[in-house]
Amino acid sequence: YRKTIIAGNWKMNMTPSQAKALIEELKPLVSKVKWCEMVLCVPYVDIPTAVKAAKGSKIAIGAENMHFEPKGAYTGEVSADMLKECGVKYVIIGHSERRQYFAETDETVNKKVKVALENGFRPIVCVGESLDEREQDIWSEIVRKQVKCAMQGVSVDDVKKVVIAYEPIWAIGTGKTATADQANEVCGAIRDCLRELYGARAARAITIQYGGSMNAKNAAELLSKPDVDGGLIGGASLKPNDFFAIIEAAN
Ligand code: 13P
Repeated sequence: YRKTIIAGNWKMNMTPSQAKALIEELKPLVSKVKWCEMVLCVPYVDIPTAVKAAKGSKIAIGAENMHFEPKGAYTGEVSADMLKECGVKYVIIGHSERRQYFAETDETVNKKVKVALENGFRPIVCVGESLDEREQDIWSEIVRKQVKCAMQGVSVDDVKKVVIAYEPIWAIGTGKTATADQANEVCGAIRDCLRELYGARAARAITIQYGGSMNAKNAAELLSKPDVDGGLIGGASLKPNDFFAIIEAAN
């Protein structure tokens, strides 16, 4: 059966020394966590420090992005090989901020998902509708299209390594959380879509997270829903006690 995964997305926060301090504070807190998997997705330059600091704990380190080309003249980009050698296990792909500010498309997301899987990473694939799309009540079409495009050419064996994060854009960094029922409804629709693509057994095995202003207060209710299998946490992952409270709610 699928696992609960609580992942932090630090975004463009924390220097290497701050990363080290945060992980050292978090480590003793999470030492007794049994059931839930924990991931911290951190800026590229923090990765070596974070991997070292998290060693001997159950915290896995992830990247926030990755390029799809193996190497070459792509100034400023980072390849799968580079991340692998640094000890990265997860990679966030297609976060809405990357789609909005850095011109990521369903097509680049799909390329990156495939490269991530080929390299043994677990991609955390982000999907979610805008406020306008929510108000027009077309979230279902939008999210389904994002999932279908992202998974194009991904085999049924590989899809079980994929984590999907449902992050409604209107809930990110706004303090405006989706209600637990809204989150469950969309995560359920994503699972339906995966079932159509890969069958019931695969769909049951895939972890689907909710992300968007998840915090120590609202986590338990969101995570209690049957189709919400974890969280992708921005702001609250920058504070060890808040992040740990969310992990406890999931455990
Ligand atoms: P916040 O938790 O800060 O709303 O960010 C959510 C997010 O975008 C995680 O990827």
